[in-house]
Amino acid sequence: MTVSDAYSKLINSDIQFLKGVGEKRATLFSRLGISVLWDLIYFFPREYDDRRKICAIADLPEGATCCVRAIPRSAPSERRFKRNLAVYSLYVDDGTGGLHVKWFSAPQYKRKIELGEEYIFYGTCAYAYGRREMELVAMERVGTCDQTGRIVPVYPLTKGLTQQVVRSAVAQALGKVERLYDILPADLREKYHLLDMDRAVRQMHFPEDMELFERARKRLVFEELLVLQLSLLMLRERRSALTGMVFADTGCVKGFLSGLPFVLTDAQQGALDEILEDLKGGKPMNRLVQGDVGSGKTVVAAAAAYCAVRNGHQAAMMAPTEILAVQHYHTFRKFFGEDVRIALLTGSSKGKKQLLEQIAAGEYDIIIGTHALLEKGVEFASLGLCITDEQHRFGVNQRAALSGKGQACHVLVMSATPIPRTLALILYGDLDISIIGALPKGRKPIDTYCVKTALRRRAYGFVRKQLEEGRQGYVVCPLVEESDKLDVASGVEFYEKLRTEVFPDYRVGLLHGRMKPQEKDAVMGAFQKGEIDLLVSTTVIEVGVDVPNANIMVIENAERFGLSQLHQLRGRVGRGEHQSHCILITDSDNEQTRERMGVMTRTNDGFEISQKDLQLRGCGEFFGTRQHGLPELKVANLFTDLGILKTVQEEAKEMLDVDPTLNNEKNASIRARIEGLFGKFERKDIFN
Ligand code: ADP
Ligand code: MG
Repeated sequence: MTVSDAYSKLINSDIQFLKGVGEKRATLFSRLGISVLWDLIYFFPREYDDRRKICAIADLPEGATCCVRAIPRSAPSERRFKRNLAVYSLYVDDGTGGLHVKWFSAPQYKRKIELGEEYIFYGTCAYAYGRREMELVAMERVGTCDQTGRIVPVYPLTKGLTQQVVRSAVAQALGKVERLYDILPADLREKYHLLDMDRAVRQMHFPEDMELFERARKRLVFEELLVLQLSLLMLRERRSALTGMVFADTGCVKGFLSGLPFVLTDAQQGALDEILEDLKGGKPMNRLVQGDVGSGKTVVAAAAAYCAVRNGHQAAMMAPTEILAVQHYHTFRKFFGEDVRIALLTGSSKGKKQLLEQIAAGEYDIIIGTHALLEKGVEFASLGLCITDEQHRFGVNQRAALSGKGQACHVLVMSATPIPRTLALILYGDLDISIIGALPKGRKPIDTYCVKTALRRRAYGFVRKQLEEGRQGYVVCPLVEESDKLDVASGVEFYEKLRTEVFPDYRVGLLHGRMKPQEKDAVMGAFQKGEIDLLVSTTVIEVGVDVPNANIMVIENAERFGLSQLHQLRGRVGRGEHQSHCILITDSDNEQTRERMGVMTRTNDGFEISQKDLQLRGCGEFFGTRQHGLPELKVANLFTDLGILKTVQEEAKEMLDVDPTLNNEKNASIRARIEGLFGKFERKDIFN
């Protein structure tokens, strides 16, 4: 066995065999994603409790939380209140003064105490009845301290686990590994003054001081981001080494554009030009189009699809929901008339067998669908372009699965949640990016208000006024799909109330996620045709739906939604010539909710909103690993670590300039890490 075999065997050994863990607790740990030693070693504290300061009892400030080093002068006394509630009290002295230490319901502390020995007591101080007291948090005998007199890690927990159990398991795991391997080559560490891996990880768990902690964290962030950047750059490199189909005639698109009822905005035209440049360039396109809601991404996608078709190939477009696929199908039919043969392929398509045969025989030019497009039996005669709309709903894998159906076919990704360019560059580092930075002319910013439920009547009065003028509207409530236990009136009930009591003279429709696809289509179709005035809906309308005559939206329980989601929802109005309004209803006084609502009423800018969302929620939640299909970042925060990210981006480029496939001996460990990570994402081919 080589050294590294023994090492990897060790770090991959089961945590069950650690002292104090065992089978039962191992199950609890697994809820935190921890099953082997390495998981524990790479499981970092969520925050730290600085318990270094030791105060003299005589100088104890009222209300301060700190440590005292003192000797018990009397045996602990015990007072019982109820069966399970006892308060213990102990008089201690440190030479400068005396202190009454109190704790509740923790009899084990009582047993531990030996008179005359020295202890450290950590807790919060107060003056009561003219005497000094401390409410105890932790107590340890001097010389055996691991939670007092130092910076103490605070780990994320799950029910049944305590800080102490986790802390002790981590300490044991670290104790078993003599020295952690470093995948970063020494010259790189030197160049950026990075701590070595072993030191960094140990300092993350049990920092000596906060400066060292910062350096440790920086080192781990650096590594995480470097691995990610290198992977994405290599992936991009590999794709661009392929030969792509050449769509020589891109001028054909002019014909399509001239038939539209509007002229493209400069921003749309700019993005389209970049796309067309790719399509005739001889390399497979790999492009992300970012544009705020309503910026008109669909028509740009349609123009690209048209180009593929006129150059003799098929185009496929994948949407995240059936409603959206159907809508795109109708939009494309309108755009192209009888010129282009368009198929709709979803889970509920009828006559599927025949449809599939026709697609494979090339009898359709553009195929629009849901992830049904990814299924095995779907084959194309000559797939030249694949488009995924509302990218955040699909992972990298799905994107890859669709493009894999054509030979090095061109890939176009439309993003629903625009994010700042710097961030997009890392998260979509394998894609080129076009931005549609402006909305079509004449769009009026949506007026947004936030009100409490007490004003609901007035809000609906305002809705009525819009309907009277011939407009349509949405009422969104986070229902039906949500857990039934939630304390909100059921969606159906709410709908019935609106239909029969509030708007009996209008046509009110209901749309929710539990309806059958055909039912959803029927309702959506009716709304689109203006046969429904007011649509009560759950978040199934969150993405993409386009009904320009709708100009008013009410969002009930607005506190339930994240910022980006609210922005997406609101984007269903403000798509036509009429002034649009959005009313957020919430009774929540939660500070974060207030802040979110404040952002919504202040701005209509999706880029700004997503930035704020990131800031408020952190990256993990914002993207949800599964959605972007990238490896999870355990330490790095793309929002606050932007500085490191920039450095890493440059470094990654330089490294690959010198060693494009990371074949140098000194890069072997990084390479192995990347293979390990992206193997899971079926991206092993990076290195071929
Ligand atoms: P999104 O970018 O959110 O997907 P859509 O593609 O659905 O936006 O476009 C929103 C609306 O704007 C549609 O009704 C579309 O027909 C219209 N639209 C797109 N481009 C223009 C334009 N250049 N001028 C006027 N209206 C446009
Ligand atoms: Mg769209």
